[in-house]
Amino acid sequence: METIKTIQIGEPRNAPLEMSPEEFRALGYRLVDQVAEFLGSLPRRRVSPGESPREIRAILGDSPLPEKGTAAATLLDDAVRLLVNHSLFNGHPRFMGFITSPAAPLGALGELLAAAVNPNVGGWVLSPMASEIEAQTIRWIAELIGYPREAGGILVTGGTMANFVAFLAARKAKLPWDARTHGLAGDGARRMRVYASTETHTWIHKAVDLFGLGLDSIAWISANSDQRINTTELRERISADKAKGDLPFMVIGTAGTVSTGAVDPLPEIASIAREHGLWFHVDGAYGGFAAVAPNAPADLRGISEADSVAVDPHKWLYAPLEAGCTLVRDRNALRDAFTQHHPSYYKLLEDREETLNFFEYGPENSRGFRALKIWLALRQVGREGYAQMIGDDIRLAKALFELAAAHPELQAFRQGLSIATFRYVPRDLTPGVANVEEYLNHLNSELLGRLQASGEAFLTNAVIGGTFALRACIVNFRTSLADIRALPGIITRLGADLDAALRPKALQDNIA
Ligand SMILES: *Cc1c(COP(=O)(O)O)cnc(C)c1O
Repeated sequence: METIKTIQIGEPRNAPLEMSPEEFRALGYRLVDQVAEFLGSLPRRRVSPGESPREIRAILGDSPLPEKGTAAATLLDDAVRLLVNHSLFNGHPRFMGFITSPAAPLGALGELLAAAVNPNVGGWVLSPMASEIEAQTIRWIAELIGYPREAGGILVTGGTMANFVAFLAARKAKLPWDARTHGLAGDGARRMRVYASTETHTWIHKAVDLFGLGLDSIAWISANSDQRINTTELRERISADKAKGDLPFMVIGTAGTVSTGAVDPLPEIASIAREHGLWFHVDGAYGGFAAVAPNAPADLRGISEADSVAVDPHKWLYAPLEAGCTLVRDRNALRDAFTQHHPSYYKLLEDREETLNFFEYGPENSRGFRALKIWLALRQVGREGYAQMIGDDIRLAKALFELAAAHPELQAFRQGLSIATFRYVPRDLTPGVANVEEYLNHLNSELLGRLQASGEAFLTNAVIGGTFALRACIVNFRTSLADIRALPGIITRLGADLDAALRPKALQDNIA
């Protein structure tokens, strides 16, 4: 029989992961120095490493799982070297791609503190102060965008998850049968309908697929030439679906489309939803926080009328990844969607005296302390600080749009929120002619690849009515007017080089 002596437990216990406070302090100071150095060096670095997947894999190497451990100091130096030299930096002043922001430096420090205390914000007893900080953060987010502060809410990983949570709350609230027990097959299985414009982010495809409604349940409503939902078509489609016995339950408005930053006519969608008894959800993952800026579109005020809103603190609150947030006007509707069983092993977690167990308000059980980085930043700069930074991002997009419009070799398309879209057009080509348009799409697509690989700036693209456009999205408190002014020169230089190499002979003959 094994005796206690044969087990390798010393006194004090010698666990391989444990670290003395002295060792932690030394490693931590060194790492903080390296991170500070990295942040200071960003403007002098390339935005993107311009290395292929094969090259990156070769640098990392393909060693098998280590059998034995390595000194922590060596490993941290190694990790710093790999990441600082071979990453794309969304914290770089010239990063203007997708919708991804730099991380607020205070948020990075907050993440260290959150990980060190490591509260499990699934149950209140596991995270007394952290749960209350999350609740306060959610109330502040609601106030920031003009939503009732009594609303229910939860922090999740990002905008997609935040939209999912709202979608599930809507489905639960609006189904006329007990879907918890009978699934979606109740009531003669009428076709459920969710209404969304063709500019809606792709989370909706995932949602109807994952949550059992199927792609056919999306009633796609066309967008007008300004990329906003066609509300006449929306009204007609809801009425027609009702007349044929379908079950309309939800309508989605987007506060800031991904391609061009268009804001749907939210107040009008709200009244259509009210008229038909539908759940009105606003996807504000990109533009929701712009409600705080004085120069934002007035339609954002319609957020206040929504049954639910998704916003994304890791976009325009500049929180380090990951953080999304769902707000639901009726907090019981949110709770109803996610609370059912009370297993015996969670006896201690049951609601008492208004304790707030976040596992009852969302899909996750164990949950990290996502709130701290957001809470710190909201306190660091206040509403005023965010109004300034978001307002400046929008002004920079306007400035870029105007520069493009005035440039003889650039054609400007749209500016919405902090997105500007435009393309490179060589002086001797006339847009509009079919074969010229085809070539310009090809040329600008190649140009974007060349620009991204150059490391000089990072833009992405939008396709607007079949036209390939370069797209700058400024959700970046480090971008300055000088960065914006540098773009036309960089783009036309790369464009001219490519045009010389790519222009088809037929097109040249056309012109001559
Ligand atoms: C970014 C975005 C999403 C998805 O958010 P993630 O944080 O990437 O999951 C959804 N909708 C809109 C409008 C977005 O801009």
